[in-house]
Amino acid sequence: MKITLGLLPFTLSAVAVSVNAQDTKSSEFSIQANVQLPFPKWLTDFTGLTSWPGVDPPYIPLDFIDFEKIPKHIPAHESGHCATLANNFDTCSFDCHNCVSSDDVYTCPQLSQTFDDGPSVATPKLLDSLKSKATFFILGINAVRLPDVYRSTVDRGHVVGSHTWSHKFLPSLKNEEIIAQIEWSIWAMNATHGHLPKWFRPPYGGIDNRVRAILRQFGMQAVLWDFDTFDWKLMNGGTAKDEQTIYDNVRKFKNANQGHGLILEHDVFGRTVDVALKVNDIVGPSQLTVPQCVGGLDYIKRFDIEN
Ligand SMILES: [Zn+2]
Repeated sequence: MKITLGLLPFTLSAVAVSVNAQDTKSSEFSIQANVQLPFPKWLTDFTGLTSWPGVDPPYIPLDFIDFEKIPKHIPAHESGHCATLANNFDTCSFDCHNCVSSDDVYTCPQLSQTFDDGPSVATPKLLDSLKSKATFFILGINAVRLPDVYRSTVDRGHVVGSHTWSHKFLPSLKNEEIIAQIEWSIWAMNATHGHLPKWFRPPYGGIDNRVRAILRQFGMQAVLWDFDTFDWKLMNGGTAKDEQTIYDNVRKFKNANQGHGLILEHDVFGRTVDVALKVNDIVGPSQLTVPQCVGGLDYIKRFDIEN
């Protein structure tokens, strides 16, 4: 898939199941044409840069990251390439083996919706009609394009977490590249609303103990799910999944799981937002945000923004 300057083509790529090396090369571009959020002076002082990066953000060393704490025996793998990866708790791959670590969040005592890949132009409709508080895992690259949508998400009482800077499959990356994906998403959240995020959802569920060892050094915790709506299959006119099947599956899960669970959805297109609102009716308004599910903090820290 060729990625162009427009918001829409990028977002399509963001929810695609996999991006091959060819696509990654064609994705080099400047996002400046779409950026609404000024690049803050404190970030220029820290990085020496003057503008937000494209889909391959530069690695900026951080003094609190200790590379000795990152396991060296867990090999990088591409999405779906699991044959060489050990299936044990030492590696603990969620994308390959559905393994979760003791500090991962993957369910909730009250069935609750979560939304990935925004903010998008479709998000405001969801915010206008959602009858419960939810957790939104945002892409940094989308937050700097639509900072007002990000702020309005927070102003309505929802919690915002990180979904990386540009939606790369983290287990395939070098340690420095993983750090870059996390640090730039955090800086986007810092600059948009003064948030230091606590909660992190890995794109494609791509996480193992190498990625976790980096994530923990940022003080963050991974949030996975125990119910996938597969709503992203509706995008681009897709027919692999239809709305009625999604609603039937949500009802079945709600009954079978006795009202517990964490639902994965996407606030990227009108069609997925319409699905989200119907799912909201099926699940009901008594939902929890991820920090409420586990009795945790909304953010590591909130601070006033100085640009
Ligand atoms: Zn995603």
